[in-house]
Amino acid sequence: MLTISQFGNPILRQKAEPIAISRIQNKEVQVLISDMRELLLSKKLGVGLAAPQVGQGIALAVIAIRPNKYRPNREFVDLVIINPEIISTYGYRQQLYEGCISGGPGKAGIFAKVPRHKKLRIVYYDENGQRCDKVFEGLTAHVIQHEIDHLQGVLFVDRVKDTTSYMTHREYLKIVKTDTVMRGMMGRTT
Ligand code: ZN
Repeated sequence: MLTISQFGNPILRQKAEPIAISRIQNKEVQVLISDMRELLLSKKLGVGLAAPQVGQGIALAVIAIRPNKYRPNREFVDLVIINPEIISTYGYRQQLYEGCISGGPGKAGIFAKVPRHKKLRIVYYDENGQRCDKVFEGLTAHVIQHEIDHLQGVLFVDRVKDTTSYMTHREYLKIVKTDTVMRGMMGRTT
């Protein structure tokens, strides 16, 4: 059973250690990945989870973006990124609303607009220990940047430029439900 590290826990401010490639297929790493994935999928708004958020200071994150009633046409993204490194970023930064699974339990979480690169190229290892070199864009690129930040000890609140955009979970849900323009800008919790 994994426990979520909340804002204020020092592990969220530490730089995660890279995982030795030979260890990726080990049972402990594989079990951690499947437990993290299960925990993430249990969170209604959750789309990403980094290992420090469950008390493990290692460079691993899982990402799962599912279609839902607010984004029915979204392609399913299911990714494990280990030892990720940003090779390049493209274009201007786009602001999307973000929250964080470590930013308060359940409905206590806060959300705010965070500018992130629209597109980026990263190298990482997947859960099979395969080295990957890929370009991601849109929401997936946004989520990846949130997760890589976690592995560097950086939290989304550090990146907020428009501080008037802070809102509670409840207000965030109101916007998602009622405003179709804003909905396009809605992220999720990661
Ligand atoms: Zn987060």
